[in-house]
Amino acid sequence: MKGLVYGGPGARSWTEIPDPAIRDPRDAIIRVDAVTICGTDLHILAGDVPEVKPGRVLGHEAVGTVVETGSGVGGLTTGDRVLASCISACGICRFCRDGAYGQCRGGGGWILGHLIDGVQSEFARIPFADLSTYKLPERVSNEAAVLLADILPTSYEVGVLNGRVRPGDTVVIVGAGPIGLAAVVTARLFSPAHIVVIDKAENRLQAAKMFGADTTVLAGTDDPLSAVRSLTADLGADVVIEAVGTPQTFELCTALVRPGGRVANVGVHGKPATLHLEDLWIRNLTITTGLVDTYSTPKLLDMLVAGQLDLGHMVTHRFGLGEFMRAYDVFADPARSGALKVVLAG
Ligand code: NAD
Ligand code: ZN
Repeated sequence: MKGLVYGGPGARSWTEIPDPAIRDPRDAIIRVDAVTICGTDLHILAGDVPEVKPGRVLGHEAVGTVVETGSGVGGLTTGDRVLASCISACGICRFCRDGAYGQCRGGGGWILGHLIDGVQSEFARIPFADLSTYKLPERVSNEAAVLLADILPTSYEVGVLNGRVRPGDTVVIVGAGPIGLAAVVTARLFSPAHIVVIDKAENRLQAAKMFGADTTVLAGTDDPLSAVRSLTADLGADVVIEAVGTPQTFELCTALVRPGGRVANVGVHGKPATLHLEDLWIRNLTITTGLVDTYSTPKLLDMLVAGQLDLGHMVTHRFGLGEFMRAYDVFADPARSGALKVVLAG
């Protein structure tokens, strides 16, 4: 079969690799039917994630059909159409029992395509398949479901739930990539009074408007601080969600929040941000951060089935699996291509 293989910083190839095999009784093998590329894959390709070694099959967002199950898999049978969660976790260690799947110490805690091979391939091994896959009802499309592998639970858990968005809140989201846009959709579930989205790219702000942002601010041209202050009687926002991952945008978030407000960091920071603790202290701010655990995936799937999540507009480009090299080029250059999520279908 073929897979998208990391070859070291800047190098990737769509190439022949061995078929995946069951290695543990709790594994399943899926045929990949729909798969996406994530900003995290670009971080890996840039060499920013040194624990990912050359030879690794990338990718952690897929929908597929079960073609084989290990003897310890109880809830799946061949032919089931499933969403594979981006996090593999044992389900029974002390962290998993708390829903902290990303911290699993029972042999999981892996992000697919990170320390184990991922899903950007024709077939893929999914460890702990009973816990790490979700059977899909017929009415949910592969394209909508694949957005629940990572970006929806990430924006919902690490952004909206950690930030405790409440009815009537003013919510600011800094960064309008797929994660920031998914945060607009999931923040809306809590009836905030106003959602402001800040990005430095005009086409991303246009997308934010389509997803329901009330106000957009073009960073670098407009002044985010005065825009947010004028909406909040000079106080600042109740909740600010960081969905970029730079020291500057994190510091902007702490400046935009009101006294007693909440900053929920979602961005992955390659460079450390500065914490001005004296300022955060005197203003009683709550700051949260974290890796997605995907404990919310079943709930998000229910909401998707019930028509409560409008994810239209998120997939901007579609390719066949054999077009992975070109799909990466398109995804990596959103200023030119206008790409949000690209989906490759088998
Ligand atoms: P993305 O690169 O597609 O989007 C980032 C957006 O930020 C872009 O639209 C860009 O124009 C904007 N931006 C960059 N610099 C800016 C600035 N100075 N001011 C305003 N806007 C600016 O990324 P994404 O896929 O949406 O992911 C967002 C972040 O979330 C990334 O850091 C990613 O690694 C992280 N992430 C975190 C988790 C987690 O578990 N916490 C999971 C997945 C992704
Ligand atoms: Zn991802």
